[in-house]
Amino acid sequence: MANPLLRESATKLKKAIPLMLKHQIPTTPTNYALWYAYVGEKSPNLNQRLDEIVSQYSTCPPSHSERLYQEYLADPAALNVVDMRLNLDAMVTELSQSLKDTNLDASQFHNKISSNYNKLNKIENDGFTIEEVLTVVKSLVQDSNDIRMSAQHFSAQLAKAQSEIDALKQQLKQSEHEMHYDALTSSLNRRAFDNDLKGILQQHPQGLCLIIADIDHFKVFNDTYGHQLGDQVLKAVTKRLTEACKDGTKLYRFGGEEFALIVPKSELRRARQLAESMRRSLEKLTLKDKRKGETINNISASFGVAEYQTDDTNIALIDRADSQLYQAKNLGRNRVMPIIR
Ligand code: GH3
Ligand code: MG
Ligand code: MG
Repeated sequence: MANPLLRESATKLKKAIPLMLKHQIPTTPTNYALWYAYVGEKSPNLNQRLDEIVSQYSTCPPSHSERLYQEYLADPAALNVVDMRLNLDAMVTELSQSLKDTNLDASQFHNKISSNYNKLNKIENDGFTIEEVLTVVKSLVQDSNDIRMSAQHFSAQLAKAQSEIDALKQQLKQSEHEMHYDALTSSLNRRAFDNDLKGILQQHPQGLCLIIADIDHFKVFNDTYGHQLGDQVLKAVTKRLTEACKDGTKLYRFGGEEFALIVPKSELRRARQLAESMRRSLEKLTLKDKRKGETINNISASFGVAEYQTDDTNIALIDRADSQLYQAKNLGRNRVMPIIR
């Protein structure tokens, strides 16, 4: 909007319409002309009288509008049609921009506007009456209101759709999480273990080690202190083992009171050392049983460790770690197998 006249018209328009809304003035041609003149401050008398009426009635009743219109504006010469057209030009520019902002298809609006423009040109060329001009203005104001309403409606729908999409995304994230994590301990679950192990075996299995850990005499905790405390033990053990994970090692709840650890790019000796440090850490774990007021400090676990061998399947690797775990249990529990010298 480089044209200063256009800019001025747009400014007037921007002032007139909010004022009319504020005072609940219907957008009739008469009212539009009145409030356009008001913000243009062409006649101090008109402004003063409008102010008085609005302060008395909180609006401008139709009968008063009509009288003011007759007194101040009925003379066609008082209203410059060229000025009015520039005003409309500014309005179209402004509305088109706000349409672009809301991504609404503007073609429908442009069709309406251009038919009004043609009428306006005709009025200019053929001579005009103020009523004719104002009828066109009224029609434009109505159209622009319609467009504004539909743009608002469209934005609201867009926002609603967006929030529904966000909610769906959140749900999807939640169910993905539930698919791979164990509800009780929040550690990765057996499904995640199977996925991850297969992935590593396919991509870079060299040095891969597997540790399987099983809590010793876990059933006794359940039998002595109840299932609830058994759950607490499982959570505490998970926390300890997770804290001990390093160098890309991941912990999984393998089932019941059994855990698996995938140790990538390592070797049996190092994986064994890791298991040993975990074993010692669990020995020091203590838990308070609130019901009996007893301290539980006899938690331990047995560990079986296996290293990947060429052409290992996931089942073969798990079996070897499992049989080492079995050895550890048989040899008296609370130990890591195999022993390496
Ligand atoms: P071992 O030293 O030979 O491993 O003996 P254990 O008692 O640990 O092994 P067993 O297989 O005899 O018992 C495992 C118990 O773990 C039985 C089962 O009720 C319990 N258990 C499995 N899952 C859960 C769980 O989510 N919460 C609780 N509280 N107990 C569980
Ligand atoms: Mg056990
Ligand atoms: Mg077991």
